[in-house]
Amino acid sequence: MEARVMPVARVVVIGATGSIGRQALDVIARFPGEFDLVGAVGGRRAEELARACAPFPMARLVVADPPGQTPSGMGAGSDAVCELLRTSQPDVVLVGGGGAGALIPTLVACETGATLAVAVKEVMVMAGELVTDTARCHGTTIIPVDSEHSAIWQCLRGEDPATVARLVLTASGGPFRSVPLEAISRATPEQALAHPNWQMGPKISIDSATMMNKGLEVIEAHFLFDIPYDQIEVVVHPQSAIHSAVEFCDGMLIAQLGLPDMRAPIALALSGGRRLSGVVEALHLGELRQLEFEPLDPARFPALGVARRAAVRGGGAPAALNAANEVAVEGFLTGRIPFGAIAELVAEVADSFPADPVRSLDQVLAADARGREQARALLSELAGGHPGAGA
Ligand code: MG
Repeated sequence: MEARVMPVARVVVIGATGSIGRQALDVIARFPGEFDLVGAVGGRRAEELARACAPFPMARLVVADPPGQTPSGMGAGSDAVCELLRTSQPDVVLVGGGGAGALIPTLVACETGATLAVAVKEVMVMAGELVTDTARCHGTTIIPVDSEHSAIWQCLRGEDPATVARLVLTASGGPFRSVPLEAISRATPEQALAHPNWQMGPKISIDSATMMNKGLEVIEAHFLFDIPYDQIEVVVHPQSAIHSAVEFCDGMLIAQLGLPDMRAPIALALSGGRRLSGVVEALHLGELRQLEFEPLDPARFPALGVARRAAVRGGGAPAALNAANEVAVEGFLTGRIPFGAIAELVAEVADSFPADPVRSLDQVLAADARGREQARALLSELAGGHPGAGA
């Protein structure tokens, strides 16, 4: 037997009870020779976190925002999250959940010098410049987990960044790719949550139905790969077999293919880019009947244009876009606004948002708070006669 070359990687998972977090725990449990879970952070539910982490009795557990008392031995609150990151000597921190709330833990994780595996696109959208600058200052490597960005990251390995002509992000088209246009604006949460290819949490499922998800991903790609917005293209590809592609200056494209299973990009990010045997089943090209592509219809998916405008506007506009979108999606899921109002509400906030530079954490949080506040005010106006299930 050859001696092991790679030590076991110490992993902290933020958002351990969410969809990405649970799949990360599954990967860690299946590769005990590669990974050791040293810490896990959940959002609000202590029992759920304890249950999800039962296979890892040595892991330190923290609930970021508990509604009441947490069990003894479990940390609570955002200070405990930061303390866990600073003292558990992680090699990798997976930011798998928490939406905008994951920003501060992400910045703290950057400062520890651990590799950052980022699955929460909201963080890169709100504070792409701040996160990439902080990572650069501390020599922190960022490895994307989002399937499109993992694909692009894989396509770029070994390539000269100066030879990249375009990034091509694929979009499945979600549940409303081919339903009649007039039916979309009246879609119910149940219809919007039914993604044809991916099993995901509710927020990202709605973002996939509006295509705001792709807009957020364009912004995420801009910051992760330092590529101008006019060189980031979106193409609808209903089979979700090609997770994204890169076009190079010589006219060649490289694409990454695989089954839609997030455990593949999660394992690749946790391992620092090493390929582990048998993470997921392989895609058999002979069984794929067809690969289709079509341009994205802006009338069907106005949210992508809203996101692109905010991206180009810059400053606090992307943070405000993200904040307004979180409020609007919540408003839709609780029955307060129709599906069609999500993009309209977000546009109203983001299109007029000041484009002043946003470089510090305080400036990011201020843009986020202001975007959220404006969106809530608009939501109350729009929801006049719809108190909804959650109110
Ligand atoms: Mg994605």
